[in-house]
Amino acid sequence: MTETPSADRPAADGPAPRLVLATHNKGKLRELRELLRGQVPGLDVDTQVVDAGAVGAPDVAETGVTFAENSLLKARAVAEATGLVAIADDSGLSVDVLGGAPGVFSARWSGRHGDDAANLQLLLAQLADVPDEYRGAAFVCAAALAAPGSSPDGGREVVEYGQLEGTILREPRGEGGFGYDPVLQPSGLDRSCAELSSEEKNAISHRGHAFRALLPAIVEALAGK
Ligand code: IMP
Repeated sequence: MTETPSADRPAADGPAPRLVLATHNKGKLRELRELLRGQVPGLDVDTQVVDAGAVGAPDVAETGVTFAENSLLKARAVAEATGLVAIADDSGLSVDVLGGAPGVFSARWSGRHGDDAANLQLLLAQLADVPDEYRGAAFVCAAALAAPGSSPDGGREVVEYGQLEGTILREPRGEGGFGYDPVLQPSGLDRSCAELSSEEKNAISHRGHAFRALLPAIVEALAGK
């Protein structure tokens, strides 16, 4: 049977992957490719920057209690499994009056992993009595790079952070985005994240800030290799 090459999976005779993003989320892969386009001489981002599925990288459990720990766990495991430089991110919502919660538990705050509606409703109930001036929060992201032990960089690890600060609204607003987007209103805007276009959101997002902060380490890890 002939394999059909896809934009996400390099053709068998195409250039070898050089950088793997430890995710199955195509949106995150697109964001990383755009960020890297033209930044590393000789790197073809569309074929050489790939996601976990393209190179059979393992899914890694997020067992850490900080964003940095989880992002490093994933990047390290994928770098060792594939022999490629690996990037991973971990993110979530950090609410000031909740001491940073839901934090690394953002995706499972209601007890059901990935139930965005239940997570968001529980958060709103917890903050029901909190006055507007104390509803500060931020989306936070840690982005990690790990070089495989076998590479010239010999197990080098770097973690960078990004934030998107704002306040938690009293009711969900907007149809776009995912997760807690309908209840976070970025500082200086009068719309929730779910009311922004994906271009507007990407331009200010915690993940964008973290990936951009990691860019020098990525360029260095790939330079001449
Ligand atoms: P992950 O790091 O992509 O696994 O995100 C963990 C969880 O944090 C998601 O399931 C969401 O609940 C929340 N989260 C992270 N980033 C965002 C965002 O940009 N908008 C809304 N929710 C987010």
